[in-house]
Amino acid sequence: MTGTAPKRTVDAADWQARGRQSIASLGGLSKTALTALEKLGLQCVADLWTHLPLRYEDRTALTPIAELRPGMPAQVCARVQAAEVVMRRTRMLVVVIGDDSASMSLRFFRFRQAQLSAFAPGRRVLCFGEARAGNVGVEMTHPKYRFLGEDEQVAVDARLTPVYPRGEGISVERIGKLVDQALKLLPAEADLEWLSSKQLTELGLPPLTTALRQLHQPPPEVDLVELAEGSHPARRRLALEELIAQRISLRLVRKRMDGLRAPVLRPAGQLARQLADQLPFALTAAQQRVLEQLRKDLARSQPMLRLVQGDVGCGKTVVAALAMLGAIEAGHQAALMAPTELLAEQHRKTLAKWLEPLQIDPVWLAAKVTGKARTRALERIAEGAELVVGTHALMTDAVRFKRLGLVVIDEQHRFGVHQRLGLRNKGVQQSYCPHQLVMTATPIPRTLAMSMYADLDVSVIDELPPGRSPIVTVAASQNRRDEVVERVRQACALGRQAYWVCTVIEQSDTVEAQAAEALYADLSAELTDLRLGMVHGRQKSAERQQMMSEFAAGELDLLVATTVIEVGVDVPNASLMVIDNAERLGLAQLHQLRGRVGRGAQASSCVLLYKPPLGEIARARLGALRDSQDGFYIAEQDLTLRGPGELLGSRQSGEVGFRIADLVRDADLLPLVGTLADQLIEQSAEQAEAIARRFLGANLRYGLA
Ligand code: ADP
Ligand code: MG
Repeated sequence: MTGTAPKRTVDAADWQARGRQSIASLGGLSKTALTALEKLGLQCVADLWTHLPLRYEDRTALTPIAELRPGMPAQVCARVQAAEVVMRRTRMLVVVIGDDSASMSLRFFRFRQAQLSAFAPGRRVLCFGEARAGNVGVEMTHPKYRFLGEDEQVAVDARLTPVYPRGEGISVERIGKLVDQALKLLPAEADLEWLSSKQLTELGLPPLTTALRQLHQPPPEVDLVELAEGSHPARRRLALEELIAQRISLRLVRKRMDGLRAPVLRPAGQLARQLADQLPFALTAAQQRVLEQLRKDLARSQPMLRLVQGDVGCGKTVVAALAMLGAIEAGHQAALMAPTELLAEQHRKTLAKWLEPLQIDPVWLAAKVTGKARTRALERIAEGAELVVGTHALMTDAVRFKRLGLVVIDEQHRFGVHQRLGLRNKGVQQSYCPHQLVMTATPIPRTLAMSMYADLDVSVIDELPPGRSPIVTVAASQNRRDEVVERVRQACALGRQAYWVCTVIEQSDTVEAQAAEALYADLSAELTDLRLGMVHGRQKSAERQQMMSEFAAGELDLLVATTVIEVGVDVPNASLMVIDNAERLGLAQLHQLRGRVGRGAQASSCVLLYKPPLGEIARARLGALRDSQDGFYIAEQDLTLRGPGELLGSRQSGEVGFRIADLVRDADLLPLVGTLADQLIEQSAEQAEAIARRFLGANLRYGLA
C-alpha cells in the first residue's frame, strides 16, 4: 500500500508538554480519584485522549413514548402521572409517566425515599434509557433522568453522548469530563500527525486529531454501528496507531536486548546425546532443524530470543529438554516455566524420568510449594541447581538463580506480554541476560505471530512424529449422549482410555470444578463397570497428580476433566475424547483438547457434543475441526470465523493489552504496521519511540521504561 517512508515528524516537545503531563494537573482530583484512574491505566493526559468510549447514547432527539421499541435506547420527555413503591419479589419504585402519545413506567430497584416524593404527579421529567417490553406496555429500568422546570425548553444534545468504561471509585460522568478537559489540550493536527496526507488518503484514514475528536465527540450523523464494530475509519486510525506503538516498542525492546550479553553456550553435546540415545524414538527432521537453530543461537554472546511454534503433539518438549541440557553441560542453569500447575507437573515428571539416568534432579517450584519445601527449593536454585521446573512462581522476587543461562517458557500464549517480559527481565543483571526460548502450542497465523512476538525470532516445527494415526472427529447433538456413553463403555472394554471434558461458560475454577463433579457423578452412575477419575483446577496438587498418574498408568479408564487438560497432558493410550458443549469453546481450544488423543498408535476419535440448535458460526467451527487436524489451518479459520477474543482466548487477548486495536478485526492492518514501524525505527529510533509512547496505555509502557 504505502511504499514511501513517512516524512512528517512529530513535535516531541509539544507532546511532552501536553500529553505527558499528569492527569493531576487537570485539577480538582482527589487522591482516591487519581488511584481509581490509575487502575484504569490512566496516568497522563494522553491516556485520556485514547481512553475511548465503550458506546454512545443518542440524546440528540426526543422520542414519543408510542414510538419506543424494546431494546431501543431513547430519550423521552414526559409528565409524571403516578409514583408508588410496590412489593414484587423485591421492593421497587414504579413511576408512570406519559406524553401526548402514550404512557410508560420507570422502574427503580435501588432508590431513596426522597426519590418517591420527587416524582410528584404533573412534574416534567426528561429521561434516557433502554426501552423494554414490560407487563403493560414499555418500561425503562433505572433510566437516567432529570426534572424539568415548567417552562424549561428541552435542549437536546448536539452530539452523541460517549459512555466511557466504568472504573471502580470514579463515575463514568467524571471520566467523561476529564476526557473533555484533556481533549482541549490536544496539539494542533500538524504536531501530532506523522503520516503524510498522501498516506492518509491511500489508507482511507483520517488524521489522528480528527479521529480522536470523532470518537470522543461523534456528530449525530455518525454511523453508530460502524463505531461499535470498529470498522469506522476513526477507530481504525487509532487501532493503527496503537498497533504501531506496540510494534515499535517490542522492536525497540529487542534492539535493547541485542545490546546485552548472554553466556556463550557451546557444549560438546555429551548430555544431549545421552538423552537422545535413551529415547524410544528418533527426532523428526523438523525437530532436528529447530534444535540446530537453537544451538546456533545459544553459542552466540547475544541473548537468544526465539519462539518455537508447532502444532499440538509435534514434540516441542524434547527439543526444549535437549536445548536445556546444552546449557547445563556448558555450566549454566536452565529453567522451564509452564502456565498451569498441571502442565508444569507433567513437565516435571517427564523431565525427571528422562534425566534421572543423567543424574539431574529438577527442582520443583509452584505457588503451592510452601514452608520447608519452598525454602529448600529456593536454596537449591540459589546454589546453582541445574534445572528448575515450575509455574510463574519462578518469577517471584524470592527466586534467585546463581547463573541462569536459559529460560524456556512453554505454552507462551497463555502468559501475557507482561509476564513474558517480566520473566526475561528477571534474569537480566546489568548487561547480562539469559537466553530465552518461548514455545507456543496454539499455532498462530503468521501476521498475528509477528505482531505479538515482534521481539522474537520464530521457528516452526512443521512435522508430526511418524506413526500418528489421524483422529476421527464427529459432532453429535446432546440428544445422542446415550450413544456416546455406550461408545465410551465399549472403547474402555477394549482396553482404551478416554477423556470426557466438561465446559462452562463462566471462566472460574469453582464453577468448573462443580460442573466436573456433577458430570463425574452422572457418568459414575451410568458407567458402573468403569474406573473413573477426575481432574480440575480446584484440587490439591497432590490429588490431581495422583489422578493423572493413575490415568497414565492405565489404572483408570475414563478421566472426567475440565479444560485444565487443554495443554500438555500426554497419555498415549488415551484414544477417545468427548467434549461436552463443544459449541462453547473456540477453535483453538477445541483443537488443543482434541490433541490429547491421537498420541499413540491406535486409531483415535473425538466426539464434539453440542447442544442444538447450533448457530451458524458454531456450526462452521465444528465443521472446520471435523475437516482438518492442521492447527495452522484451524487457526486461519478461527481468524475468519471467530467472535471476539476467540483465537487467542478471551483471557489472552485481554493480556495482549490492546485498548483499541483488535488483532483479529484489524488483522488486515498488520502487514502495514510492520512496514511502517520498521521505517520509523530506521529513520530515527528516538522519533519512533516518541510515537510509541504517545499511544501506549500506561500498562504497555513497561517495555520502554
Ligand atoms: P507438544 O509439542 O504438543 O508439546 P510433546 O512435546 O508433548 O508435544 O510431545 C508429544 C508426544 O510425542 C510425547 O509423548 C513425546 O514423547 C512424543 N514425541 C516427541 N518427539 C517424538 C518423535 N520424534 N517421535 C516420536 N514421538 C515423539
Ligand atoms: Mg507441550
